[in-house]
Amino acid sequence: MPDKTYLITPGPTPVPPEVQAAMERPLIHHRSPDFKVLFASLLEGLGRAFATSSEVLVLPGSGTSAMESAVSNIVSPGDPVVVASAGNFGERWAKIARAFGADVRLVEQPWGERLEAGPIAAAAPAAKAVYVTHSETSTGVVHDVQAIAEALRPTGVALVVDAVSSLGGVELQTDAWGIDVVVAGSQKALMTPPGVGLAAVSPRAMELARSASSPRFSLDWQTVSAAQAKGATAFTPPVTVIAGLDEALRLLDREGYETAFARNRELARAAREGVKALGLELFSPDDDSSSMVTAVRMPEGIDGQAVYGVLRDRHGVVLAGGQGPLRGKVIRIGHMGYMNRFDMITALAALEMALAEFGYRPPTPGAGVARATELFSEGRAVGV
Ligand code: PMP
Repeated sequence: MPDKTYLITPGPTPVPPEVQAAMERPLIHHRSPDFKVLFASLLEGLGRAFATSSEVLVLPGSGTSAMESAVSNIVSPGDPVVVASAGNFGERWAKIARAFGADVRLVEQPWGERLEAGPIAAAAPAAKAVYVTHSETSTGVVHDVQAIAEALRPTGVALVVDAVSSLGGVELQTDAWGIDVVVAGSQKALMTPPGVGLAAVSPRAMELARSASSPRFSLDWQTVSAAQAKGATAFTPPVTVIAGLDEALRLLDREGYETAFARNRELARAAREGVKALGLELFSPDDDSSSMVTAVRMPEGIDGQAVYGVLRDRHGVVLAGGQGPLRGKVIRIGHMGYMNRFDMITALAALEMALAEFGYRPPTPGAGVARATELFSEGRAVGV
């Protein structure tokens, strides 16, 4: 193993030293006054991150736990729901909904496409809720959730959004766009280790939870909400990760969300330009809308999983392989979280070096790094 590892994945992402330091403080008890102060600060920070004045529920577990809560608290067995899917995480909504006995109406588009709002709104009227993904991490596409919310508004059907790989990295206005539930996790753009799932729940969605009969216990929104109303958690929470997340939100507040979004856009732009300069094709869209993950098509005859292995084991550079039908076909570069221009330079250099082992040569040696460096130096990629 190389002794230095670069985590340039779409999650978990690197953790800033300030967040690491916050997690290294001696453990506090979750029923102590110190925890109350920490938890109150976290909830305030989360309100800004989600751009909501509704409750943000803090759920132990991963992003999928938060997704599961958004099904079990809304759906009763047999309820029709609409799931819009164009990738792995859209499909996950359908799997969870089916696990709870929902009657899933799938509005599907091919992997890699951006979801169209019209067909989703057309399928919605009979449904209890509509489930969509914001950043579809498997394809790199960031779906236009604002347009979907607008199209759904006349139907009055609740909209649930998976923002696990977008919250804190790309604009998402929970209240202003009229989204009922947004779920997220600690380990991506929020720059914290995994362990905390999050769900922003509107009063209307909380109302749905009162009548949903799916079984649930520790992820029951009313239980969690009742504890949070007293400044506490219902069960023993991941105190250490919560301390890290609170610090990460402070860093994001200090940087400013708009600046963080711009940083992501600019890093993604440099990555796309660098990839193209290497003579490779993009799978993810070649525009600023998709700034969380860049998915790179592997050249004909080269197995992406093998490239992923060489990157990780020989170079210590951890990117992500493809999922589902894209396994072996793409390599994904993450831009979210504690990431800067040199992470992109590293990713492009490592990709070129790894591909060389499979006989692939770019038009000019170092072309990807050269292009990204050019953009960064001119201030055209990352604003300086
Ligand atoms: N949704 C999206 C869009 C994701 O990217 C992920 C994680 N890759 C998840 C859900 C699931 O999150 P977790 O792995 O934390 O359960």
